Amino acid sequence: MDHDRLPYKMYMWEESTGGKGWIQDVKIITDVLHLPPPSEHIIYDLDAAAVAARNLSVNEYWREAAVKPKLDCFVEVTDRMSVCNLVKANMKRRPRSLTAKLLCGILPLEVETGRYKKGQKVDREFRYCKVCNSGRAETEYHYLFSCDKLKVERSTAYLECVDDIGHFMVIQDCEKVRYLLAPEKIKGFGNMVENLFDKRRQCLFNPNK
Ligand SMILES: [Zn+2]
Repeated sequence: MDHDRLPYKMYMWEESTGGKGWIQDVKIITDVLHLPPPSEHIIYDLDAAAVAARNLSVNEYWREAAVKPKLDCFVEVTDRMSVCNLVKANMKRRPRSLTAKLLCGILPLEVETGRYKKGQKVDREFRYCKVCNSGRAETEYHYLFSCDKLKVERSTAYLECVDDIGHFMVIQDCEKVRYLLAPEKIKGFGNMVENLFDKRRQCLFNPNK
């Protein structure tokens, strides 16, 4: 830090007065990034520091997300790029919104709405699907890939956005979602989420239609 520069003079002045203003912030930043404290001989690489700070923030974000049960699916299937794909894709508002809700664990599936019954917490595996009544939990993966009542809508979506259905069917559910979140697939995935959602609602609330 150049000793003729005003920030350095302010830093030294505040340090000499035992100040707790921005000097504390500078110390926190240099500590967290394992940089030496400011002195007249130090020249910081600010671009590298910005990258390091951003990485720390991203790591902290994923650490926090990992301990939130609601975000189980999100943590398993998404990364920064797939979130970007969803934001950037040329999609209509509703499929984009439903896809975002699905990934964030707030689409009103039983895994979300069935968390409590009569004030008691219900374990994830007992939040049964009321669409197919198969005794299986209605998780995001069940909704997307397994629920029998949504088979027709799902098959149509596969034909539209899955290149090799044989291979697709044998990969893990989380890999299937990652595959469908690719930039060239995500629009079709959004349509699939929307069509399944409409069919699900029809099964639950208007089964005779
Ligand atoms: Zn089901």
